[in-house]
Amino acid sequence: MKKMICVLIALSCWQSAAAQDESTYYSIADYPTVKKVDVHVHIRTQRPAFADQAKKDNFQLVNIAVDGAGTWKAIRDQWKYIKFQKEVFPNVYRPLTAFSVENFHDPGWEAQTIAWLDSCFAQGALGVKVWKNIGMVLKDKDSSNVMLDDDRLDNVFKHIIENDKIVFGHLGEPLNCWLPLEEMTTNNDRSYFTNNPQYHMYQHPVLPSYQDQMDARNKRLDKHPEMTFVGAHMASIEWNVDTLAAWLDTYPTATIDVAARMGQVFYQTIYEREKVRNFFLKYQDRIMYATDMADRMNRTPTEQASTMHETWMRDWKYFVSDEEMESDLVNEKFKGIKLPKTAVNAIFYGAADRVFDLK
Ligand SMILES: [Zn+2]
Repeated sequence: MKKMICVLIALSCWQSAAAQDESTYYSIADYPTVKKVDVHVHIRTQRPAFADQAKKDNFQLVNIAVDGAGTWKAIRDQWKYIKFQKEVFPNVYRPLTAFSVENFHDPGWEAQTIAWLDSCFAQGALGVKVWKNIGMVLKDKDSSNVMLDDDRLDNVFKHIIENDKIVFGHLGEPLNCWLPLEEMTTNNDRSYFTNNPQYHMYQHPVLPSYQDQMDARNKRLDKHPEMTFVGAHMASIEWNVDTLAAWLDTYPTATIDVAARMGQVFYQTIYEREKVRNFFLKYQDRIMYATDMADRMNRTPTEQASTMHETWMRDWKYFVSDEEMESDLVNEKFKGIKLPKTAVNAIFYGAADRVFDLK
């Protein structure tokens, strides 16, 4: 009889532990049932492949223009696609625009930029992406780099803020950009900087340093304490969660996205899983899930859909489970950080809902 009671107690403890686990944590299989958002994608086509897969995977998307080509024409073309996708899939997409610094030294640049932003705001843009070309590419008349805190950008930033729009900043690059290829921590950075040597700052030591880029970004933030600022790509402080935590403490209204930096998260998880987990727990309301995935018509719709699903599932597994994982982004195995549902909801939806008003 005693034995029987012990077995029953053990069984009910096990059952309630399992039930508690179920109410506290998501399973990998919960993936399609949980509302999620990817706040950093680039759709440069009219085809529906991206939105179709997002709907299947229960994702909303923030679709972003960027001054990557450095021309106004490229910005206008991207905005056309962004507007088109928003019109066809109003519940899936939230649009962000950008401006070009193509003719920055012309006297009419500021007025042209403000007029362009106004037209995008009137068409539903929620904010403006500012890109690393300010700081890393754009030259002044004396051939030094124009940095983000430059006074000549003040009125454009003021205008964005006065219109209650978001500044979405990809400034600088991952710290790996200033390291030789063999010292880089992630395989995706190694391949990006092999293919884009013009951005591999280790090869251009006369150009501004990593710290110069961070200082210029921070001085811009200091000029506008009221600005709604999103630090894309973990605010380019992807290499250390302690340093990133200190930055978030310094700028209490800023949020970050994790786009294209999960490799850096995995890398730190290999060595300091508990610390990484605690970072995501503590700052869950200021971290937004994102990938930087794009549709530029360079994949078939089937390839596009499977890339998206696999990337999103990989990251879901990392955040909700403690399973051992491998990724081609890093060379060693690591374990998922199994965050509770509340933190998963914040990172995959809640933080973004506050910034981008997703309803
Ligand atoms: Zn991007």
